[in-house]
Amino acid sequence: MHADNDIKGIIRRKALDLGFDACGFAAAAPVAQQAIDQYCNWLEEGKNDCMEYASNYKDLRFDPTALVPGAKTVICVALNYYTERRQPKDAPQFSIYAYGKDYHDAVRNRLMQLATFIKETWHAESRVCVDTAPVMEKYWARTAGVGMIGRNNLLIIPGKGSYFFLGELITTLELPPDNPCTDTCGNCNKCLQACPGGALEGDSLDARRCLSCQLIECRGELPAWVQEKAGNRIYGCDECQLCCPHNRNAISTHIEDFNPTEDFMNLTLDSVLGMDTATFNTIFRNTAVKRLKLDRLMRNARNIAKKY
Ligand code: SF4
Ligand code: SF4
Repeated sequence: MHADNDIKGIIRRKALDLGFDACGFAAAAPVAQQAIDQYCNWLEEGKNDCMEYASNYKDLRFDPTALVPGAKTVICVALNYYTERRQPKDAPQFSIYAYGKDYHDAVRNRLMQLATFIKETWHAESRVCVDTAPVMEKYWARTAGVGMIGRNNLLIIPGKGSYFFLGELITTLELPPDNPCTDTCGNCNKCLQACPGGALEGDSLDARRCLSCQLIECRGELPAWVQEKAGNRIYGCDECQLCCPHNRNAISTHIEDFNPTEDFMNLTLDSVLGMDTATFNTIFRNTAVKRLKLDRLMRNARNIAKKY
C-alpha cells in the first residue's frame, strides 16, 4: 500500500511522463473568500467586458466540490507552448500561443490518460477540465504550488515563465495538498509599463483596455484606441509576457504541434488581405485563430493596412 505522499509522487511522475511541465495538488474546497471578492469586484467593475461567460456559473466556479460531487483534490498541470520559431517582425503578428494547434486536445488527451491511470490504480473518479468548465484555474494553479499570479495577470512558474497552457483534474482521490506558491513580482512593474492599453493598472486585467481581448473578442468595429495602438498585431498581444523577466529563460516546447506551419510562418499582410475562406480554413485548421473567423481577421488586417 502506498502512503499518500508516495501516491502524489507517482501521479506527478506520470503527469511529467505524459509531457506536462508541472503538476501540483490542492485540496478541493470552496475558493478563498478574498479571491471570490476580487473576482466579483472585477465583474462589477465591468472589467470582463465582452467576456460575458466569465459571470456564468458562479456557484460552480467558486467551489470545485459543487462541480464534481465527492471531489477531494484538484490536480493542476501546465504544458509549455513557447517556441523559438517566430514570424518576421514585419508580418502581421499573432500571439505565440496561437501559432500551433489548439491546445485543448493536447491537454485534454494527456489529462484523460492521467484520469484513467488514477481510476485503474486507486479506483477514483476524475473530471478533466481544460477551459471546459467554470474553474478558476490560475487560483488553483497557485494554490497547488504550480506558480504565482504575476502583475500581468498570468500564471508564472518561477524559473520557467508564463508560456504555459493550464488544465485541471478534479478527483475524488484524497491527497495531501502541496504548499501554495508564495513568490511575488517584488518591485518589478515592467508589464504595467509595457502594456499598450494600460490594462494592468489596478490589481487586475481590464479587458476593455487589453489589445488581446479587443482584437479577439470584440465583434464589431474595433474601438478607436485599439485601431490606434494595435500596430501590426492581428491576433492577440504578448507585450506583458515578452517584457517579463521570468520569461528570460523560457525554453521551446517539446510539443511539435505547438509550432507554426510553414504556411503560417509565410503569412504577409497582403496574403491575409487576399485570403479566401478555403485558405483560412486550411492554414488555421485546429488553431485558436479559427475561432476568430475570417471576417474578424480581415477587420484586424485592414486596421494594420490603414497605417501603410
Ligand atoms: S496582452 Fe497586451 S494589452 Fe493585454 S494586458 Fe498584456 S500587454 Fe496589455
Ligand atoms: S513583468 Fe514584472 S511585474 Fe510583470 S508579471 Fe513579470 S515579474 Fe511581475
